[in-house]
Amino acid sequence: MGQLTCCKDSSWAHERDLGHAEGFEYLLGKCRRCGVPWMNVFCVATGITGYERATPSDVEAIQSIPDGPELKKPSEKGGGQLNR
Ligand SMILES: [Zn+2]
Repeated sequence: MGQLTCCKDSSWAHERDLGHAEGFEYLLGKCRRCGVPWMNVFCVATGITGYERATPSDVEAIQSIPDGPELKKPSEKGGGQLNR
């Protein structure tokens, strides 16, 4: 986790709530200056917040997820039960 590193004086614009997973809240947004997508990651337990660069494929995957309370992660499905 870190700060926005795309621009010198970047600020983050919130676009969408992604829900939460494993004690973290995820928000999708972008840099107000250059429009690069960033995810804001917030740790509920510690209050620590940071930013992670979101790749175009991340954004595409995120936007294809219907609104819901949880991010679905393979690791939460009870490991080893994936069908491939
Ligand atoms: Zn920027």
